Amino acid sequence: MRNNKYIKLNFRVDDDYLIVHTLASMGKDRFSSRKHQKNILVFQNYAWKKHKPCYNLLVGRFSAIEIAKGGLQKTLKRLPDFLKELKASKRYKKIYRQTEEYLKFCERQWNDNYFVSSEAIEELTGLRLNKKFDVYITHPSLRNGSYRGSNTIEWGHNEDWPNYATVYLWHEILHSYIGWSDKEHAIIELIADEKLRTMLNGGKYPPFVGHKHLKNIKQKVLLKWKKYLKSNKHNIRDFIKNPHDIFCNSINPTVPQEEKRFKVKKIRAAGY
Ligand SMILES: [Zn+2]
Repeated sequence: MRNNKYIKLNFRVDDDYLIVHTLASMGKDRFSSRKHQKNILVFQNYAWKKHKPCYNLLVGRFSAIEIAKGGLQKTLKRLPDFLKELKASKRYKKIYRQTEEYLKFCERQWNDNYFVSSEAIEELTGLRLNKKFDVYITHPSLRNGSYRGSNTIEWGHNEDWPNYATVYLWHEILHSYIGWSDKEHAIIELIADEKLRTMLNGGKYPPFVGHKHLKNIKQKVLLKWKKYLKSNKHNIRDFIKNPHDIFCNSINPTVPQEEKRFKVKKIRAAGY
């Protein structure tokens, strides 16, 4: 591996975390695919029927009034057996098996893409890619994906397009290097969701994928971003550091002076 420095991902399925994430993912919008949806609903219903207070406690729905009435201690006492019973059930074992299979898929895809994708990210950002992360994998038919700090990533999603897992694992890794503000998030999306995706899969951007609320920022930065891509030395932190530079110089130089001033004003007024 180049310079012995590389990103190391430790993929894992943790029973307690998988149970809590699966039980907490209630409602249609929590699903990323209908595949295995029935298995997930069967498991949720089984757990709900087994012990409602334990279910509520695990998913953060235990009410203050239940605590006031002394329910908390009773439920805490029941919790270890509740979890043991769930883990032993064939309904959970199915969820676990499907998640474990997805872990192997992610790991394989990550390794297959690692050389090309890491070289691309390193080149695009100038970052030293040498961190280790724990990646907690959840069921692929549910939505999950975040960087939790302390080199910990949560991940699980349907493979909506080729190399989806690779692109979004890089997205989460980049949060650890770049940050969480809307501006930083938009730049992360330009690097991973847009540039890396189109490098691996072909096609072009826009149209953008990723978070809807970041589309405007990405559009505003686009010209400056394309200019950045053409420069020969890349330093993503410098690129982000200078908001005036990013958001104002991105205006097409052929735009007449009057219009240009108006646009700058409008962008500033938007608070970016
Ligand atoms: Zn993100």
